[in-house]
Amino acid sequence: MDSRRRNIIKTSVLSSIAKLLVEARNSYKKSNSVRSKRYTKMAFDLLKKHRARLPPELKNSFCRKCLLIWIPDSTMTIAYDRKNHCLRVTCTCGHNKRI
Ligand SMILES: [Zn+2]
Repeated sequence: MDSRRRNIIKTSVLSSIAKLLVEARNSYKKSNSVRSKRYTKMAFDLLKKHRARLPPELKNSFCRKCLLIWIPDSTMTIAYDRKNHCLRVTCTCGHNKRI
């Protein structure tokens, strides 16, 4: 496969992941968390299949453990970690991540 074709595939995968994450966020706001998790799972499966690299705003928008979409003060909390001098995001499932 030549690089032009690979680039076309990667950009289309990235745009569909972005659309799926927007849909996940919308359905979580409509209190449909099961559908929201399914959208996030579809996006994460695409990401794993094509080994695409997400921009940071999409990368830090869902939990990789429980596939919950992250909405500040609703499904995640952000705190400053003094020990490691970084921001620490904690999901409602207990998974936390350094940013
Ligand atoms: Zn989680």
